[in-house]
Amino acid sequence: MRDNTQVERLEAEAVNSVRIRQPMYAARKKIFPKRASGSFRRFKWVVMAITLGIYYLTPWLRWDRGQFAPDQAVLLDLANRRFYFFFIEIWPQEFYYVAGLLVMAGVGLFLITSTVGRAWCGYTCPQTVWVDLFLVVERAIEGDRNARMKLDAGPWTTRKLVLRAAKHTLWLVIGVLTGGAWIFYFADAPTLLGELFTITAAPVAYITVAVLTATTYTFGGLMREQVCTYMCPWPRIQAAMLDESSLTVTYNDWRGEPRSRHAKKVLAAGQPVGDCVDCNACVAVCPMGIVIRDGQQLECITCALCIDACDGVMDKLGKERGLISYATLSDYNANMLLATAGGASSVNPSLVRTADGLFSDKVAHFHIRKIFRPRTYVYIGLWSLIGLGLLYSLLTRDRLEVNVLHDRNPQFVTLSDGSIRNGYTVKLLNMIPEPRTIIVTIQDLQGADMSIVGDDVPASRSFAIPVEPDRLKMLKVFVRQPADQIHGTAQTFKFRVEDKASSESDEYTATFNTPEIAR
Ligand code: SF4
Ligand code: SF4
Repeated sequence: MRDNTQVERLEAEAVNSVRIRQPMYAARKKIFPKRASGSFRRFKWVVMAITLGIYYLTPWLRWDRGQFAPDQAVLLDLANRRFYFFFIEIWPQEFYYVAGLLVMAGVGLFLITSTVGRAWCGYTCPQTVWVDLFLVVERAIEGDRNARMKLDAGPWTTRKLVLRAAKHTLWLVIGVLTGGAWIFYFADAPTLLGELFTITAAPVAYITVAVLTATTYTFGGLMREQVCTYMCPWPRIQAAMLDESSLTVTYNDWRGEPRSRHAKKVLAAGQPVGDCVDCNACVAVCPMGIVIRDGQQLECITCALCIDACDGVMDKLGKERGLISYATLSDYNANMLLATAGGASSVNPSLVRTADGLFSDKVAHFHIRKIFRPRTYVYIGLWSLIGLGLLYSLLTRDRLEVNVLHDRNPQFVTLSDGSIRNGYTVKLLNMIPEPRTIIVTIQDLQGADMSIVGDDVPASRSFAIPVEPDRLKMLKVFVRQPADQIHGTAQTFKFRVEDKASSESDEYTATFNTPEIAR
């Protein structure tokens, strides 16, 4: 074991902890997280680059849908009520796909939380990602933890003024870019960018950018951890989803306690001593300002930066990594029982080690199979089932539809020759970005013919109707049946639509009302 003096001891205190619980309306104590380095930090950089890259760049991706549809890969076209996602186009009546995706996201969140805890909070939540980005700017301008604390506590000098102005300006630039990127999802991005710069965009675009700039700046720069602690409901909800097999960031006090800054002296005195050298490195890097050694807390977003910090300390001391680690409650409890001789004594780390200082075979270690349990399989099954159902429905859905509304008043008209006429509104939906000629035919109504209001062509049982790409066409139609052909009081018949070019077709069963039904 190397000497503890190789480890820098930091004066870091929890701003919020189980022991020092802040009143709900107490003034915020500033947190100055120290830069962490290690595998989890590197993983977070990668996740941050991917998530921010997706958010900022997606509106600029193009997707060729032909000359009659927008070429933006992801577009929420509110004006025309369409959602474009690469090769998928969603019409308003197909909103159940979006609902299905939201259900999948919910089940996926249950799955992730029940297995690897609050991974969403620690790695991919926008609040976490943007706070990380704002911290990068803050560190680049003001320095790491000690420099920032010194600057904050110092008087307002020209240097402090310049540094603060630069930091807030860059934060605002990030806010503007974030708000700007958001509106590009709702209109053609290059066109809207040009309009924004020439002040010809719609006022709602400027208002949205302003609101999102303000919220990004406030949440990411000023409020930071307070959003997670006080505003977000997820920390409360996730507690109900965790069980003894879920992974959480855990301080393994079964090997860390009794902690001491003077391990050699304590050992020389014949007292047991744990691996924790009480250096506070885990507190200094915590973006939530908590002490993980106090146990699981609502504030912990499981970002794992304290694991990196502690692993760095263990490396310096020549001890095994993992004093703070991802662990399940069942493993932790088993190891605590081992370290306390079944709960009979306080923690004695020698009980978890062999005479040569290695971990005993009885120490429980994490294995990936532990997080796969019946509950996990149920979530995976449910998630896959919904996903496959959506995919099947998407691949087999119709791109040609007909909907018919019968006139309410009058329900029928008796013509001078005794024949009966019913009026309908026929809606033809051409859901592809190509023009089509759709054949509309009436079937199963003996002797009947059809005429289109406003069209001079003679009545017929079938018409060829051109429909523009990606459009709905409404026809006002009269269906007439000679008196001697009427059978029954209400006859059902079909409007059949067909696109000969693609062989797609659809049918709608309508009712033909006669005088008897009106009485
Ligand atoms: S205690 Fe550790 S995992 Fe939890 S928020 Fe702080 S640094 Fe992240
Ligand atoms: S848990 Fe690790 S980082 Fe935290 S005080 Fe102990 S030794 Fe230092």
